[in-house]
Amino acid sequence: MISIKGLHTFGCEVQAEGLIEINTPEDLFTLYQKGFFSENKWLLLGGGSNVLFKNDFNGSILLNCIKGKEIRESGQDSVVVRFGSGEVWHEVVRWSLNNGFNGIENLSLIPGTIGAAPIQNIGAYGVELKDVFRSLQAFDTITGEVVSMQKEECRFGYRDSVFKHELKGRMIIISVSLELRKDGLTSVGYGDILKTMERYGLRPPYKPADVSKAVIEIRQSKLPDPAILGNAGSFFKNPVISSAHFEKLKVDFPDLPGYPDNRGEVKVPAGWLIERCGFKGKRYGSVGCHEKQALVLVNYGNGTGEEIIQLSREIQEAVRLKYKVDIYPEVNIIG
Ligand SMILES: Cc1cc2nc3c(=O)[nH]c(=O)nc-3n(C[C@H](O)[C@H](O)[C@H](O)COP(=O)(O)OP(=O)(O)OC[C@H]3O[C@@H](n4cnc5c(N)ncnc54)[C@H](O)[C@@H]3O)c2cc1C
Repeated sequence: MISIKGLHTFGCEVQAEGLIEINTPEDLFTLYQKGFFSENKWLLLGGGSNVLFKNDFNGSILLNCIKGKEIRESGQDSVVVRFGSGEVWHEVVRWSLNNGFNGIENLSLIPGTIGAAPIQNIGAYGVELKDVFRSLQAFDTITGEVVSMQKEECRFGYRDSVFKHELKGRMIIISVSLELRKDGLTSVGYGDILKTMERYGLRPPYKPADVSKAVIEIRQSKLPDPAILGNAGSFFKNPVISSAHFEKLKVDFPDLPGYPDNRGEVKVPAGWLIERCGFKGKRYGSVGCHEKQALVLVNYGNGTGEEIIQLSREIQEAVRLKYKVDIYPEVNIIG
């Protein structure tokens, strides 16, 4: 067994039976020919920033190191770039901005690899991966073939995709193609970004690079750095409830924030619900709820996956009791 503590951002002491670096799609085919995928338990990891290991992993970790960037199409207004799935997401953002391509500046500083971005359709500050996603290539571990998937086939939703359902644990994404714009236009609908722009002394139209700078600053001021404090970002997804339920809750909790969607439902910030249940900043032994963002569960050093899961269950229970709302993990729990 080998330690994989350094391969996931929660930083719990976890061991796995083996560790295999994947540098090219051919490495996957070689493993397939040896019967690896049918005979072994395995898990592909990118940056390990959205996983929580319950226990030791009785199988092999495949570490995604597939790199590469290739401009596939270039028009007057946009460009399609194919990235190797092991490219670090924030480096993809930086590279895009440095080359005059915009569309993903609001997603600056999200940890992890681009290959994991479609799994939960990463999103932040009003932009989601699906807004720029063109297609991906994936290695099918059952057939040994490489398949291309277009946007509709990925069935992107809020922190969701087909890779969390029917295709869970089957496909290994080897490349992702994004359609980025060249128009230099950027969206800053969020109050925090606007305030930061004001502080920079900037007026609209804002530049994508300035939005990226603001997003980085805001994220660094609010979210714990996993290099210092183990965490996986938001532990829970924001729940979506019926408007009738929301209106009822508003009677008892008039300041409850809610964002109606176009299906007559309302998205409620899980962090608000958790904070009002009194968990924010609370420490339970080696684990706890972050002092600035109740949605983020943290490992102070020696916390175990079991302890974090136990805390997450207590939070779920408290939210259910107080608001009759179920909240579910965004983080992939392994084991
Ligand atoms: C501080 C912090 C802030 C964060 N902020 C955000 C945010 O604003 N928005 C957001 O959406 N997320 C956020 N996250 C979550 C996380 O960064 C994203 O989900 C990211 O896409 C995970 O990438 P990863 O490479 O680390 O994936 P991993 O954690 O390595 O993997 C996550 C899951 O995807 C699977 N997987 C990974 N790569 C592939 C692949 N190539 N093919 C098939 N399956 C694969 C894994 O098996 C696992 O099940 C945050 C995390 C942290 C720690």
